[in-house]
Amino acid sequence: MSITGHAKVAGVMGWPIAHSLSPALHGFWIHELGLDAAYIPMAVRPTDFDEAVRALPRLGFRGANVTIPYKERAFQLSAEVDDAARATGAVNTLVVDGDRVTGRNTDVSGYLASLDEAGTGQLDGRVAVVLGAGGAARGIIFGLLSRGAGEIIVVNRTAGKADALVAFFGARVIADSWDRLDRALSRCDLLVNATSLGMTGQDELQLDLSKLKASASVSDIVYRPLETTLLAQARRRGHKTVEGLGMLLHQARPGFSAWFGVDPVVSPRLRQHLVSMLQGKS
Ligand code: NAP
Repeated sequence: MSITGHAKVAGVMGWPIAHSLSPALHGFWIHELGLDAAYIPMAVRPTDFDEAVRALPRLGFRGANVTIPYKERAFQLSAEVDDAARATGAVNTLVVDGDRVTGRNTDVSGYLASLDEAGTGQLDGRVAVVLGAGGAARGIIFGLLSRGAGEIIVVNRTAGKADALVAFFGARVIADSWDRLDRALSRCDLLVNATSLGMTGQDELQLDLSKLKASASVSDIVYRPLETTLLAQARRRGHKTVEGLGMLLHQARPGFSAWFGVDPVVSPRLRQHLVSMLQGKS
């Protein structure tokens, strides 16, 4: 569908940006809903990022997504942020409000929506084991706590980063080591891989799931490949699994709705479209 001079415009800023699935995702919704709108990839050099954010209102943009390596800088540049952004120090969605640019972190709600979709979002008093202590892990821990998780055990290669999360989030979050993972797994209701291990081109995540509580669900936020070795192993053992693609799809909804004024739906057709893109078929 062609656009007019009235088109609402948004996009995604990153460096590099060519790998981003966001243009395909938002483009699918724009087409499906027949909107006079455009969503474009913006390869913004690190030296130009601040200026690019400030230029959004002047260029008539409704807002933008922000991806690697700019989520922390976007937080600093936002005139106002939501609770999830404050807790994570990271913004992935910018919304233009008059002359101001405000920031949100929708990775958190996107992750929780992916758990809900898989029927594993009920976390009251539950024990979660989160592998990793990077930006994504921080958001996930915030989200799990907001859903009433009873205890979150953070296991990370660099112990100091797990300790920093414990200090930030307080009593319900504790740190443990990889050597004692079996003990944590035996009490675990939700196991989350929030490291980059298992991603295409990275080292495999080597885990023995034999000690994992039988009723536990397993979630992996890595989405290349769609089903990681961890998820395949968990599925074969009869655990409920949650793929990382769900988080990616759901994090996009609040931005789309703020920029274009329509609530989009994560449908099986959209999922299939993204799966085809990931598999290099379109
Ligand atoms: P990050 O801040 O760079 O953190 C990476 C994490 O992985 C750290 O905890 C790091 O441990 C750990 N790690 C990396 N290599 C490791 C190795 N060889 N052995 C053990 N641990 C290792 O990255 P992030 O932003 O949190 O993202 C993490 C992953 O989530 C990425 O694969 C990203 O693509 C994915 N992600 C998916 C979505 C989605 O929508 N599904 C959204 C955001 C992120 P150290 O602290 O010891 O370095």
